[in-house]
Amino acid sequence: MLDKVDMPKDRLYIGGEWRKGQGAEITSVFPADRSHNATVSGASAADVEEAIARAQDAADAASWKRLKPHERASFLYKISDGISRNIDRISYIQTRDTGKTLGETRALAASAAGTFRYFAAVCETEEEKITPARGDYITLSRWEPLGVVAAITPWNSPIASDAQKLAPALAAGNAVILKPASWSPLVSLELARIIDEAGLPKGLLSVLPGSGSVVGDLLVTHPAVGKVSFTGGTAVGRSLARKAAEKLMPVSLELGGKSPTIVFEDADIDQTIAGILFGIFSSSGQSCIAGSRLYVQRSIYKPFLEKLIARTKALRVGHPFESSTQVAPLIHEDHRNSVERFIAQARRDRGTILAGGQRPAGGDYNEGVYLEPTIIGDVAPGAEICREEVFGPVLTVFPFDDEDTLIRDANDNEYGLACGIWTRDVVKALRIGAAIKAGTVWINTYKQFSISTPFGGMKASGMGREKGRDGLRAYMQQKSYYIDTSGALHPWAGL
Ligand code: NAD
Repeated sequence: MLDKVDMPKDRLYIGGEWRKGQGAEITSVFPADRSHNATVSGASAADVEEAIARAQDAADAASWKRLKPHERASFLYKISDGISRNIDRISYIQTRDTGKTLGETRALAASAAGTFRYFAAVCETEEEKITPARGDYITLSRWEPLGVVAAITPWNSPIASDAQKLAPALAAGNAVILKPASWSPLVSLELARIIDEAGLPKGLLSVLPGSGSVVGDLLVTHPAVGKVSFTGGTAVGRSLARKAAEKLMPVSLELGGKSPTIVFEDADIDQTIAGILFGIFSSSGQSCIAGSRLYVQRSIYKPFLEKLIARTKALRVGHPFESSTQVAPLIHEDHRNSVERFIAQARRDRGTILAGGQRPAGGDYNEGVYLEPTIIGDVAPGAEICREEVFGPVLTVFPFDDEDTLIRDANDNEYGLACGIWTRDVVKALRIGAAIKAGTVWINTYKQFSISTPFGGMKASGMGREKGRDGLRAYMQQKSYYIDTSGALHPWAGL
């Protein structure tokens, strides 16, 4: 079926040219029935070297370097329009690539168009500074691009994470090399096609699917790469940051999460349950911000849990192209195995499976990589299922008695990405939100996003922020100028 959308088959986008990679083959499979989408030869080390050389030339070319911000912005507007025109193709490809519902991939594609438009606007409106002078001179603080930037992205929401890096990096005047994850290479190549069509000068973008240990590692260690913007797991992020430290290269790290959701007895129960289900089970829990630890005030714990379990069992697990589907398949057999290992360990840790825990069986379910939305209770907070990121449709539940123990328990985790708070008392919500170590706090909502609001993690969830006006500056470096205004004889003159 992928033939219908005319994907560039087995071609990588290297320095602005489409050609076969020299690295190991990557196969994309449709998680709903495990049918074959495409096989792509990934990039080799030589391909990466070539892309970096072309990127350096393109970043240094006067025709790009001398463009004024509004001229660079015009490319981003064209890319945004190209994405908007191709939303059907992009969402189709991404659903085939990842198994996410079509509704979700359409929303992600639309958000990617918005991201390019937003950074175009930021680029042409951002101002540089005249700083307060402390002598007879004018001082300017100006911003320059970094040169060649690498973007390394995960498989869970490729079009959105690609756009979040490419748009500000290009707006800032850099060249970018994008390495998507091996389970979802296709939509990033489709984005390259759209960007190429928008007329971005050749060499400013390369898209190199390939292995983390070859392509990813070379991008991190190569002396010509001036920054790596990474979204992925905490273990890989840590190892990458160590290598970046060797060459004193800035990195931004958007990493894993194990986010707490907190429900007080005064919350609007139906709204809260809907928000919790969406927060953990949409995208089949394959979301860095999934609300995977639920804390419910003890006074309502039992009836709340009963309702939550009933609503979880009623969720529609199904094919990603069905409009009624709420929970689609997981990305890959290997990933489902990993999630199931967490559930098995939770059972050994005396957890009670309150809902799900199995593969749904029969009909289409047998062909796809499905897993039931799962709720686990009665586990000790130190158990693996409570501490580690599962990245699947698994929620652990706990009662709480008072604010102090709640805050202690919610913070007792290495991650600090997000937090949800459900209560009608906004003052209390703000008090709790201030005490929770997380980069984003949602109050009476969850998983809402805006490109104009910074996003990132605390603790092991990462370093740096994406999105927002400052997102542009994350791909730039500052330079200061002093311009003499006195014309006076220098004190050392004539000595
Ligand atoms: P991953 O860390 O395994 O891989 C991410 C990317 O890094 C891939 O492109 C991979 O090929 C590459 N990579 C692997 N080894 C590398 C190496 N040695 N050097 C350089 N690059 C290397 O993550 P994943 O399984 O693709 O994605 C899931 C993870 O991503 C989860 O932990 C999730 O929480 C996280 N994530 C975080 C955010 C966020 O914004 N904080 C968003 C989405 C996903």
